[in-house]
Amino acid sequence: MFAQRLAQVSVSATLKVAAEAERLRREGHDVVDFSAGEPDFPTPDHVKAAGKAAIDANFTRYTVAPGIPELRQGICDRYRQDYDVDITPAEVLITVGGKQALFNAALALFDPGDEVITHAPYWPTIPEQVKLMGAVPVIVLTHSSDGFKVHADAVIAAISPRTKAIILNSPGNPTGALIAEEHLAAIADAAAARGIWIIVDLCYERLIYEPVPHNLPKVLFDRLRDRTVIAGSASKAYAMTGWRCGWTIAPKELTAAFNVIQGQSTSNITSITQKAALAAITGSQEAVTAMLDEYRVRRDSIHAWLTAIPGIQCVKPNGAFYLFPDISALLSSSGLASSAAFAQALLEKEHVVVTPGEGFDAPGYIRISYATSMEQLREGATRIVRFAESLRPANAGASR
Ligand code: PMP
Repeated sequence: MFAQRLAQVSVSATLKVAAEAERLRREGHDVVDFSAGEPDFPTPDHVKAAGKAAIDANFTRYTVAPGIPELRQGICDRYRQDYDVDITPAEVLITVGGKQALFNAALALFDPGDEVITHAPYWPTIPEQVKLMGAVPVIVLTHSSDGFKVHADAVIAAISPRTKAIILNSPGNPTGALIAEEHLAAIADAAAARGIWIIVDLCYERLIYEPVPHNLPKVLFDRLRDRTVIAGSASKAYAMTGWRCGWTIAPKELTAAFNVIQGQSTSNITSITQKAALAAITGSQEAVTAMLDEYRVRRDSIHAWLTAIPGIQCVKPNGAFYLFPDISALLSSSGLASSAAFAQALLEKEHVVVTPGEGFDAPGYIRISYATSMEQLREGATRIVRFAESLRPANAGASR
């Protein structure tokens, strides 16, 4: 009855847990929710003020489809300041979040049968959008044993004559891992030699905890300027998830193609949001730093609490706001056999919501979002530790 393209696409694996959590909440249980994929902070005041001022000034009509020129210029200026790259407004298009940025790129670039390489554990939307276009996701696995590093040789080995693009996400959801500049450089050189596009999802680019070289835009522009797409977002950096603002940075001709797609689908993003995003991107960045400082303290705390017990192994993430612990030592064929079963039992017994790894192509892991208060983190960690202890045989890990 429905279009063929839907046959390949899965619904979000997190929905089942979310529905169950909602049921427990309605029954009056004290649920600790670690599933949030968004900042718990309010949008900064000066950004909210710009949105309100836009309404009062009746800035409530259609704008040009690719976004108001001053916002596109503001993004050029921000990337120049942050990454020392030259971008013109004709290479920028404002989208309904980073999600539409990636969607426009998929729609404009992928034909049925094309192969698109990405890395796992991944944010599920990435391969699902590839499948929606009838293209084929080719997954390169990364491993917790080396901090979920994306290795250039593994990505290059996955290239075939049908490879159309490589989608990279750094910092990554759900791992928080960063792609190293030298690995990106090697991937970009291989892509340039074969006419392959690189799409880099930088939605968490402002949420990097320790200063490490991560100038991915410059690495790509130096090697592959005419086949690079950057997907950016105001959602996570400025706590603006509900406003819906992202962008693409891509060659002029491709940006013109995005403009055709957007002009025939959504048109411009909300006019009010554009003014708010302009304030966010061109105004003081102090709020970003303040949120980052708070996330860092939370990361260090929850990481220390959870890794204090045997059975939970966890890389300390460099970016984003998720922990992605390996809980496979707590699973067994006679008890909880999968991380989905683990998440379900944790919810039922301790009323803690986590996202099971299966949805990220990472069975044996769970994702814990620390975009929540320290009190919730402490309470949730206590419950997870109690739950984990209840799963271990009495003497296991005694030597640790
Ligand atoms: N990329 C990644 C890796 C994400 O985790 C998300 C949000 N969960 C997005 C892109 C898109 O976010 P938004 O559409 O709000 O910008």
